[in-house]
Amino acid sequence: MGLSEHAFQKCLSSKCGSQFDLSRALVDCPHCGSLVDIQYDWDRLPVPNALADFSQFWTQRNNPTRRSGVWRFHELIPFASQDLLVTVGEGQTLLQKADEVAKYVDLDPGCLFLQYEGMNPSGSFKDNGMCAAFTHARAIGAERAACASTGNTSASLSMYCSVTRLMKAVIFIGSGKISYGKLSQALDYGALTIQILGDFDDAMDRVKQVSQKLGIYLVNSVNAFRLEGQKSIIFRILESMDWQVPDWIVVPGGNLGNSSAFGKALIELKQLGLIDHLPRLAVINSSGAKTLFELYHEKGLRWNKGLPDKEIELQYFNKMESDQSKASTLASAIEINRPVNLHKCLRALDACDGVVRQVSDQQALDAKAKIAAGGMGCEPASATSVAGAKILREDGIIGKSDRVVCVLTGHQLKDPNITVAYHSTDRQEFERVLGGYGVKKASFPNHAIGVPNDLDAIIKAIKLYS
Ligand SMILES: *Cc1c(COP(=O)(O)O)cnc(C)c1O
Ligand SMILES: [Zn+2]
Repeated sequence: MGLSEHAFQKCLSSKCGSQFDLSRALVDCPHCGSLVDIQYDWDRLPVPNALADFSQFWTQRNNPTRRSGVWRFHELIPFASQDLLVTVGEGQTLLQKADEVAKYVDLDPGCLFLQYEGMNPSGSFKDNGMCAAFTHARAIGAERAACASTGNTSASLSMYCSVTRLMKAVIFIGSGKISYGKLSQALDYGALTIQILGDFDDAMDRVKQVSQKLGIYLVNSVNAFRLEGQKSIIFRILESMDWQVPDWIVVPGGNLGNSSAFGKALIELKQLGLIDHLPRLAVINSSGAKTLFELYHEKGLRWNKGLPDKEIELQYFNKMESDQSKASTLASAIEINRPVNLHKCLRALDACDGVVRQVSDQQALDAKAKIAAGGMGCEPASATSVAGAKILREDGIIGKSDRVVCVLTGHQLKDPNITVAYHSTDRQEFERVLGGYGVKKASFPNHAIGVPNDLDAIIKAIKLYS
């Protein structure tokens, strides 16, 4: 009972590699400042012989932790005992074949799948990780939890605090963009909300300092337990595909927690002999927040066996500072200058023969319209996955008959202002919301039709437009 003796925290740097127990959540390695990972002595843990063995747990679904889309894979996320697991019903998400969207991406019918993580209780994939962070926080007796957030992490944290009553939430937001859907959740759930005059990266720096000073449990993207929970997105994708590995997994890249978690999950499954090869991974930046794209694709930064070239990074971030360049995109969930999980993402890209691409807000919003017109909708950042798959297809990197999973990270209702402006006939409204981001026109608009309040005119309009 309690935290597992067979799980430990390990420094990501292959030069340092220090190990620590689970008694506190480390934001970085106390010896060298690198990120830390959760690692396991798998030999001492009960791991099923085959992934299909997980199907049997569905008969135990009256147990909330087996119903959870995260904890029904507890054996692959085994850092805490069953009695400690926190769940609010996260991870009941769906993988769906989307042939309309496949057409848009130029894939054969039956080849494009959308993983709807917006179906989570707070409306984004963040719940997959938050239940794991809460499990750890409960195990070490934390009373308050904090995060800096572009919105969805704070919505998730606030919800877990409100539902479980295990901790009190403190959230830090910048003064830049935060969608009203997300902010409204944090406020409604009663989180103590601190708005800083600064951007997301400033809020991130401050929350780290404050948490250390006040002993508050930090649930930012640097929290390695969150990434453990996010591994379950991969497990569910495989489950939905009858445990067959797809050719590609495409995911938006912000702080790079998701892509990092995906890579770790796949590396572990291979190591455990539960899959025999890895899919390729594509991480998609917004062209308004393209740190990973530039570092990986243009500057050649690589995992390099756990020792990424510090010089490349240093030069890049120094230049970012001296140019005072700031991320700016309508895809607010990925509007990030300094992705905190950069090194873990490099590991994932290395293991999965990965690629990184950038897409404009125009491409993302057009893809978003296509996603909602041919599947379940999503928020702008999520649509970068489909927009990214499309350009990888155009470049011939993704083949026409490859089996591609695009992860839709957040719910359609998170950011309705952008959607309404995109479909608006009012050019001023369009310009006001979208104009500053290089969005010239809605390629796939669904305009509301204005008609006089007159029965004949209404009937005529319906006949004309349907
Ligand atoms: C957090 C978030 C992202 C970015 O994920 P990272 O793990 O930070 O790369 C993308 N889309 C949505 C909707 C998010 O909430
Ligand atoms: Zn270290």
